[in-house]
Amino acid sequence: MIIDLRSDTVTKPTQDMLDAMLQAKVGDDVYKEDPTVNALEEQLAKMFGKPKALFFPTGTMANQTAIKLHTNPGDQVICDKDAHIYNYEGGGASFNSGVSCKLIDGNRGMFTAEQVVEAINPPDFYHSPLTALVEVENTANRGGGSCWDFEELKKIRTVCDSNNLGFHLDGARIWNALVEKKETAKDYGQLFDTISVCLSKGLGCPSGSVLIGDEAFMQNAIRIRKILGGGMRQVGYLASAGIYALDNNLDRLAEDHKKAKEIGSLLSELPFIKNVSPIETNIIIFELQNKRDEPKFLKALEDKNIRLSGMGQGKLRIVTHLDYTDQMHDYFLSVLSVLKF
Ligand SMILES: *Cc1c(COP(=O)(O)O)cnc(C)c1O
Repeated sequence: MIIDLRSDTVTKPTQDMLDAMLQAKVGDDVYKEDPTVNALEEQLAKMFGKPKALFFPTGTMANQTAIKLHTNPGDQVICDKDAHIYNYEGGGASFNSGVSCKLIDGNRGMFTAEQVVEAINPPDFYHSPLTALVEVENTANRGGGSCWDFEELKKIRTVCDSNNLGFHLDGARIWNALVEKKETAKDYGQLFDTISVCLSKGLGCPSGSVLIGDEAFMQNAIRIRKILGGGMRQVGYLASAGIYALDNNLDRLAEDHKKAKEIGSLLSELPFIKNVSPIETNIIIFELQNKRDEPKFLKALEDKNIRLSGMGQGKLRIVTHLDYTDQMHDYFLSVLSVLKF
C-alpha cells in the first residue's frame, strides 16, 4: 500500500463514479451535442449564478482561455508571485496571449486591494504595458491552501471596476474554500467576470475543468478552446464524473481539512521541523530545521511507503484527498511520531 500525499490530483475514480461514467449519454461536444457535457455546464453556470460555462480538459487550458478573453497582446496581468498562471502553466500567458505578468509580493499567495492599486500602470502612460486583468487564486496553492478574505476580494472588485480591469478567479480549489469558509458559489459568481474550477483535484475526477462567466467574456471562449486544441468529442464520459463528484464529493472535503490540521499539529511538535504554515484547507507546507535533510527525510518516508513533495530549500508539501483513508491517516501519524532519519 502506497500512501501518496504529493497532490490531490492522484485520486482514482471510485467504482460508483466509474458506474456513473459508463451510463453517460454522449454526443459530439464539438457540435455541442453531448447531453452530459451540456448538463454539467448548465449545473455549474447555475451554481455560480452565471449565464455560461464551458467544459475543458484541464485547468491550465481554462485559465489560459480566460487570460486570452480578457487581454490583447502586450497587455499586463496582475497576479501574485506564487500564482499558478505564472509559475506552473509553462509560460502560457506569454505564449498564448502575448501578455506579461506584474507580480505582487503577497502573503501566502494573497494580496490586498491597495497592492493592486499600486501595481496598475496608468493607462495614458504609453511607455508601460496596459494593465488589463487582475487574477487571484482561491485557495492559493503555493500559499498552502490559504483562503482569501471575501471582504478584500470585494475591495479588489471595486478597484477593477474603477480601472476598467477584468477580474478572473483561478478556482482550481474553490471547493475547499467554499466548504471551509461556508461561502457559496454564487458569492463568487457575483464578484468575478470569469472563474475556472477543477473537477480533478479534491472532487476526485480523472480529468476536467470548467470555465464559468458572463456572456460578454464567454462568447469567444469556445473559439479559443478550439484554437488551443481543447474541442473534444464524446466527452460526456468525463463530464458525468464531474456531475457525480459535485453531487457526492463536495461536502466531504471537510474531512480532508480535518486530517490536514491533525498532520500539521503533529508536525509542529517534531524537533526536526522548523515551522508549519497555517493550515486552512487540505494543503500543508512545512520546513525542516536543516534544509539539507530534505532528501533524507523524503527517503525515510518513502521507505515506509509514504510519498510527499519536496519543494526545495527544505520546504515540503503534503496534500490530503479522497483516496487518503482514515486507516492511512492513522498509519502516517504513527510513522511520523517516531520517525528517525
Ligand atoms: C491544478 C491547478 C490548476 C490547473 O491544473 P491542470 O493540471 O492543468 O488541471 C490551476 N490552478 C491551480 C491553482 C492548480 O492547483
